[in-house]
Amino acid sequence: MSPDHKDHEYGFGTRAIHAGAIPDPVTGARATPIHQTTSFVFDSADHAASLFNLQTFGNVYSRISNPTVAVLEERVASLEGGRAALACATGMAAQMTALLAILKNGDHIVAASTLYGGSIGQLGIGFSRLGIETTFVDPQDTENFRRAIRPNTRAVYGETIGNPLVNVLDIEAVATVAHDHGIPLVIDNTVASPYLCNPFAFGADIVVHSATKYLGGHGTTMAGVVVESGKFDWGSPQSRDKFPEMLEPSRAYHGVKFYETFGDFGYTMKARMEVNRTFGATLSPLNAWLILQGIETLHLRMQAHCRNAMQVAQFLEQHPLVSWVNYPGLATSPHHALAKKQFRTIDGAPGCSGILTFGIKAADAARAGERFIDACEFMSHLANIGDAKTLVIHPASTTHRQLSEDELQRAGVRPDMIRLSVGIEDAQDILWDIDQALKQAVA
Ligand SMILES: *Cc1c(COP(=O)(O)O)cnc(C)c1O
Repeated sequence: MSPDHKDHEYGFGTRAIHAGAIPDPVTGARATPIHQTTSFVFDSADHAASLFNLQTFGNVYSRISNPTVAVLEERVASLEGGRAALACATGMAAQMTALLAILKNGDHIVAASTLYGGSIGQLGIGFSRLGIETTFVDPQDTENFRRAIRPNTRAVYGETIGNPLVNVLDIEAVATVAHDHGIPLVIDNTVASPYLCNPFAFGADIVVHSATKYLGGHGTTMAGVVVESGKFDWGSPQSRDKFPEMLEPSRAYHGVKFYETFGDFGYTMKARMEVNRTFGATLSPLNAWLILQGIETLHLRMQAHCRNAMQVAQFLEQHPLVSWVNYPGLATSPHHALAKKQFRTIDGAPGCSGILTFGIKAADAARAGERFIDACEFMSHLANIGDAKTLVIHPASTTHRQLSEDELQRAGVRPDMIRLSVGIEDAQDILWDIDQALKQAVA
């Protein structure tokens, strides 16, 4: 990917395979080497000093940066159309890092109430212990975000596609609300993946990923990524007083002024030097490499996930033993119009990823749900999404078990809800397994 051809824009698939990587200049290795080292030798005392002053870019210690991890960071930044990225140990670590880079004791977040269960716990309970409060609002009405904003609000937070409700956020409308108040919109783009949606194109400022899911794609590796658009103006009259730590000399890192020094990647540098370096939720080089392997086929896998999920949704919609199906790809979904606006088209329909939910028609639907899961042949009962393998779970008794009845209702988790993460096996086999398990569930 030579910088000489500035007029040519590479497509998504080419960037998924090449962005951020060049053949190793020392060995000629074509695949990205796994730089399994904690530390990097300095050229000289002067070189060491300038690295520590952040005057020269280079590697010091793998908690701060590592060449294999850097390839992953550049690749995800490219796929999202962002300026810079920071990889973390898990998706939860990425969210925490993204938010702690701009929030402190006394600050406030407005977030969608339909977030992934773990994220509700992190923002609602984990952050409240640090003195950061979160107001959760129903994301269906964008004005709910506006109404919840306070003078001390420092971030608005949502998911492109909610998990497990598979609701679609109007990113453009929520970005407008955030920007009207001079604060950034942070979007968890895990379920859509950068192949189906680029939240920056709709005004988001920071994107986070659980790379554990579709980016890795094979259920082998935990990882997370924070991406910055490079467009948020931390120094604007509206934002300046809200984010003084972006502008003033950093007490946590050698008096560096992050926005002045690094400009459109100042936020990422702050997240790296003040949060990841200090709190240590760093991604290992081996795990970065495994996620890179996954990303090389992201575009192909997402097409297959979307096609299979659409077939499954249509099959369930007309199945006599199914009471409801929720998949934004279906024309009957209340989220279909937004999906069409925001997601890449696959086979003439908006590509809506592989997650869908449904309920079984039965007198005791919750019990039928448990029996369905026990009757599945190759679909695996586990708490993950975004694997090449089809996965199935009953959220009320597992992932969302910690939530109160009230929180369950706000998260839209019905007691009979079954969540499928549709894999990329042969569609006929997935339909067969669902059908036989449905019959056993009500037998
Ligand atoms: C899984 C998930 C997370 C958390 O990521 P981990 O890699 O498990 O830490 C965050 N957001 C969403 C939408 C997820 O699905």
